[in-house]
Amino acid sequence: MVCFTHVHPREHNLIISMTHLSLANVTASYVNKRTATSLLALQNITLTINEGEFVAIVGPSGCGKSTLLNLIAGLQAPQSGEILLNGKPIQGPGRDRAMVFQVPALLPWRTVLANVSYGLELQGVPPLEAKKRALRFIDLVGLSDFAQSFPNELSGGMQQRANLARALAVEPSLLLMDEPLSALDAIMRESMQAEIQRIWQESRQSVLYVTHQIDEAIFLADRVIVMSDRPGRIEKIIQVRLSRPRQLSIKQHPSFVQLSEEIWQSLQQGMSPSPNSFVPVFPKGQNN
Ligand code: ADP
Repeated sequence: MVCFTHVHPREHNLIISMTHLSLANVTASYVNKRTATSLLALQNITLTINEGEFVAIVGPSGCGKSTLLNLIAGLQAPQSGEILLNGKPIQGPGRDRAMVFQVPALLPWRTVLANVSYGLELQGVPPLEAKKRALRFIDLVGLSDFAQSFPNELSGGMQQRANLARALAVEPSLLLMDEPLSALDAIMRESMQAEIQRIWQESRQSVLYVTHQIDEAIFLADRVIVMSDRPGRIEKIIQVRLSRPRQLSIKQHPSFVQLSEEIWQSLQQGMSPSPNSFVPVFPKGQNN
């Protein structure tokens, strides 16, 4: 039976929600040196993410979602505003954060095991310990039988799971995921959504997850942040009060459908009048 609670089960254990990441009035822009013009990508983003929280971001193409992840990853600096991780300003990339991209960043000449242990080796973890830790995360993503396989011997979904294991193995406290499932077919994507939920419930990391899929955002997240058209602003933050673990069949439940509609409305409100390439994807049966 589907059960809906107003308090997330994880919150019972946390008692006090600890702020993990906070952004205050963050603005980011790109300068085109050739034309000497500046493009405002993000405007006044204010947001907090609590320890162990799963937050999804949806928004039209070009609204600054990747820029936001890059700022938090420390790959670029904001024009103004403040980004604090555990209360300290972000000054560049760090081991406490890991990025998972749409296309798995696996080294083709390394086995799954060697790919997953690579980040640990770079951190100076002794080889035996690195192998042990890598195998633990390979097991977590369900690839134990493929530890000695090379990336080209794996399906797209398996490659993305190996990629996830690679990111998780360095045990970042914050996982930044940029449309990690968008290259997969619909069936694989659904099963990976369930996998990601399972892995997250075991790993207990904070996650910031960018997706184009409204149903994916609701299925996975504690909160969904809806961004407006460029310059990206937060249009609305929507709490997802569905109990966990969630089954994929929850997507047919009226509460889920209602959340999808609420997000869709907010996306439309955040659109500029100009044509936009964003095509939101509703759960099965909702597109018509
Ligand atoms: P999203 O991830 O939501 O599709 P991005 O963060 O990639 O959006 O981009 C936001 C805006 O910034 C877009 O208009 C994009 O063209 C622009 N942009 C992104 N990266 C660069 C860059 N390196 N140089 C100039 N403009 C950029």
